Amino acid sequence: MTSCGRIVFRYDYEARKSVAYEPERCMVGCTTCANTCTEQAISFQPLSDIRLLIKRNKILKRVKKVALLDRDRFGLPESGPTA
Ligand code: SF4
Repeated sequence: MTSCGRIVFRYDYEARKSVAYEPERCMVGCTTCANTCTEQAISFQPLSDIRLLIKRNKILKRVKKVALLDRDRFGLPESGPTA
């Protein structure tokens, strides 16, 4: 509950423990709560599984398509920021 910046957890005062109140807010690939949980109560699939899912579902191709649509829709510059 204290480590999640996306406010996934809330404290359940009746059960006297933290609960995943809004799990859909969890960010794929983040493992901060698992890494900082003193009770080691949280675990995730290995990142290799997530990479496989990204590949199988052609997520990058879909993200690029959305990015191009956003560029056209919002008139964003063609290239990224210059250093
Ligand atoms: S993995 Fe990250 S985003 Fe998801 S609940 Fe844990 S700390 Fe929050």
